[in-house]
Amino acid sequence: MADSGRQRILVVEDETNIASFVAMYLQKAGFEVGVASTGHEALAKAGSDSPALIVLDLMLPDLDGIDVCRRVRMGSDVPILMLTARDDDVDKIIGLEVGADDYLTKPFNPRELVARVKSILRRSTTRRTLPEGGTLEQGPLRIDSGRREVTVAGKEVQLAPKEFDLLWELLDHRGLVLTRDQLLERVWGYTFAGDTRTVDVHVGQLRRKLGEACPIVTVWGVGYKVATEPKAAHASRA
Ligand code: CA
Repeated sequence: MADSGRQRILVVEDETNIASFVAMYLQKAGFEVGVASTGHEALAKAGSDSPALIVLDLMLPDLDGIDVCRRVRMGSDVPILMLTARDDDVDKIIGLEVGADDYLTKPFNPRELVARVKSILRRSTTRRTLPEGGTLEQGPLRIDSGRREVTVAGKEVQLAPKEFDLLWELLDHRGLVLTRDQLLERVWGYTFAGDTRTVDVHVGQLRRKLGEACPIVTVWGVGYKVATEPKAAHASRA
C-alpha cells in the first residue's frame, strides 16, 4: 500500500456479469482490479496479490463468503466489503460478525460500491496512521484519545473507561453499524458471543451523560452506529 502504484482491489463473485461490471467501475475510479470466481481462488489471490481491499460476494459456488471472510481474517486485516442478497438481514449481521468491514445489498448502484470502497480505504488508512493522541469530533462532541478526555461544547464530561472506549469505537466507525457482539469483542476483548446486555447498559450510560450530544443511534435488531451526518432520526434505512 505504501508504493506509488494504484491500489489493488480483489473482486470475488461467480456471476461474471456482476464481476466485470464491478471491475469496470473500480478501474474507472483508478483502482487495479483482480477477479476471483470461487472461494478457493479468492483465498489464493488474497494471499498472493496482497489486495488493499476485497469485495466479497456471500454466495459462491464452493466456499461461501462467510468462510472466505473468516479464513482471510485469520491471517490478514485487509478490509472486506461484503455483497449480500436483498433482505438478508441475518447474513448481513453474520458478515459483520466474521470481520467484514461493511456490506452492500444486491442489487446495488456501482457508484455506491465505489464510494464505499473509497470510504473503507480512507478509514483503514486513517486508522493505521492515527497517532495515539487522535481526536474525533461530532457536532458539539469532541473526544481526545491521548488525554482520554470528552467534551461537549467545551465542557468536560466524565466517562468510565469502557464508556470512553465504546464511544471512540463507534465514532471511529462513523456510518457503519456495529453489532453488540462486535462491540463486545473490540471494546471488552471478548472473543465469544457474550453478555451483550453489557453493551446496552454502557450505551444507556453514554446517552444519560452526553444527553442531546450523544451521537449513538440504535439500529433495531442489529446494533449501534454513529450516523455520518449530524444526529438524524433512527437509522432504519441502515
Ligand atoms: Ca454470487
